[in-house]
Amino acid sequence: MTPTADYEQLFHRAPCSYLVTDESWTITAANGTFLDWTGYTRDDVVGVALPRLMSADDRLAHASREVPRMQLTGAVSEVSIEIVDVLGRHRAALLTAVRSVHEDGTAEFRVIIFSAHERHQYELELVAARRSAEESEERSIRAEAGLQYLALHDSLTSLPNRPGLAAILEKELADRQPDVSIALLFVDLDHFKSVNDSLGHNAGDELLTIVAQRLSSSVRGTGTVARLAGDEFVVVEHVGSATDATVLAERLLDTINRSMVIEGLEVVCSASIGIALADETADPERLLRWADIAMYRAKARGRNTWEVHDPSEADPAVNRMRLLGELRHGIEDGQLRVHYQPRMNIATNSAIGVEALVRWEHPTRGLLQPGDFIDLAEESGLIRGLGAWVLDEAVQQGAQWNRAGSGEAPVGMAVNLSPRQLVDPQLTGIVEAVLARHDFDPGLLILEITETALMENPEMALKVLTALKALGVGLAIDDFGTGYASLTYLKHFPIDELKIDRSFVSGLGAGNGDAAIVSSCIQLAHAVGIRAVAEGVETDYQRSALLTMGCDLAQGFHYSRPLAPDLLADWITARPPVAPQIAVDLTDPEPDDDVEALAVV
Ligand code: C2E
Ligand code: MG
Ligand code: MG
Repeated sequence: MTPTADYEQLFHRAPCSYLVTDESWTITAANGTFLDWTGYTRDDVVGVALPRLMSADDRLAHASREVPRMQLTGAVSEVSIEIVDVLGRHRAALLTAVRSVHEDGTAEFRVIIFSAHERHQYELELVAARRSAEESEERSIRAEAGLQYLALHDSLTSLPNRPGLAAILEKELADRQPDVSIALLFVDLDHFKSVNDSLGHNAGDELLTIVAQRLSSSVRGTGTVARLAGDEFVVVEHVGSATDATVLAERLLDTINRSMVIEGLEVVCSASIGIALADETADPERLLRWADIAMYRAKARGRNTWEVHDPSEADPAVNRMRLLGELRHGIEDGQLRVHYQPRMNIATNSAIGVEALVRWEHPTRGLLQPGDFIDLAEESGLIRGLGAWVLDEAVQQGAQWNRAGSGEAPVGMAVNLSPRQLVDPQLTGIVEAVLARHDFDPGLLILEITETALMENPEMALKVLTALKALGVGLAIDDFGTGYASLTYLKHFPIDELKIDRSFVSGLGAGNGDAAIVSSCIQLAHAVGIRAVAEGVETDYQRSALLTMGCDLAQGFHYSRPLAPDLLADWITARPPVAPQIAVDLTDPEPDDDVEALAVV
């Protein structure tokens, strides 16, 4: 038999009913099971719109709900409907539909499936019950109840599934007595995936069945155990207090921890449990989310433990969404600020420029640092607008300072670029436009790209950097030492400076090898003909050590914190004349008094 003939057989003899329709739900094919079930012939149904075979109510619901959902998501799943069969009887069915696209991408059709095979058994029973005049009403009710049972229970463990649990919780919350609390315990097995991967799915199923039995025998008559999905179980129990709930959690962990034999192997299992107690505002969905949050905390605490959800604890997902909305408005409403940190020539002890660092003046939370929002901006794509704004603001400020300070050495401006900006095809155009708008010398602008961002896609980065370089701007690798850039790449990138990450600079003098790393980075930079910049210089010892090592530039709190533009101008005016330069003997550990053990060069 050819594969096509095989599929034809499969299609017609499948234990559930299949229909194929076109985009307007007109039936183009029906399998034998559907025809047997409904009593129609193929000619009766092919060419007929599917809703015409539904009850009037379903037809309405179909048009108002399922058709739009289908258009939106390309699928609908297990929608309860009634099909009117050839004798005019209303037949319960579940409808699942997916849109398939032909290989050429043009024609689309939908495959409709009524009832899974187990449900089909019940449906057959239902048919038999209704057909036979002698069959009692009771039998058909039982069959219908069976169908409903399957919809609300998990087939592996027979425990209530997610919809089943929702129904139970709904009722529990509605009927609750004032003196009892309802506790929901979210039980997630630890490392279940490794059991499944190493012992196979059958072993995994066996383990889940054992856990289901153990959980069930650990709850009282008032309790419920449900299986949500995979290795996630939920226990709902009436408790007198939060302590009762934690005692129950301990009991559940004990029973799960008892070893079990699976396929001849002794397996020990553990779980992380999140506990939530229902308050007046609790609804099933919220209660589950609270317990889920607490469960993640239990996982983070090292697993095989429980955590109680603290109602005052904000939901991280909600928090993120709120912050994202605020950031979007903040950018539009002009709440962003740029602060500037001086970039110092170590040998001459003079400022040669500044690095622009973004801040967010949050209306209620005060001045936020980039660490509080830059990742969010990056993930959400807001970074493109934010980055473009910082660039424009910084270059404008640089141009203004340079116009004001005629005669003095011009201020160089370093601006950070995010990985997302780096892959933006408009980046070069944006930089060019900003330079032109503020009439800023491209040679005074330095764009900083982190080593990690470069290494994400070195080939692409090379192209972008080459294009930027052609504009005449300088380029720096930021946070060097944290991203494993290979020397080969370093040599090929058209960069002008290497910024040694603060984590190494702060270790100078601690005698832990950081001095050797910093020194190698400086030599490496010089070997490929570029400047070395030390980030995060906090002490005079570090500054002196860097001077001895031949480092060119430095930034850090030792010189100045990042400052608002007006304060930075004050800092420059107030600076003492250039101090004598001191180098340090690197064989000595950092002395108590920075300066004492230094030798004057
Ligand atoms: P970065 O570019 O490496 O900037 C240096 C960071 O180190 C700044 O933190 C600065 O305040 C801090 N710092 C400087 N000297 C010292 C010191 O002596 N000790 C200590 N402990 N810290 C020092 P900040 O401003 O919080 O910025 C953090 C990071 O956020 C920056 O690291 C940069 O990667 C990113 N960032 C800042 N502004 C922007 C921006 O406008 N766009 C993008 N894409 N990223 C930005
Ligand atoms: Mg930087
Ligand atoms: Mg850095």
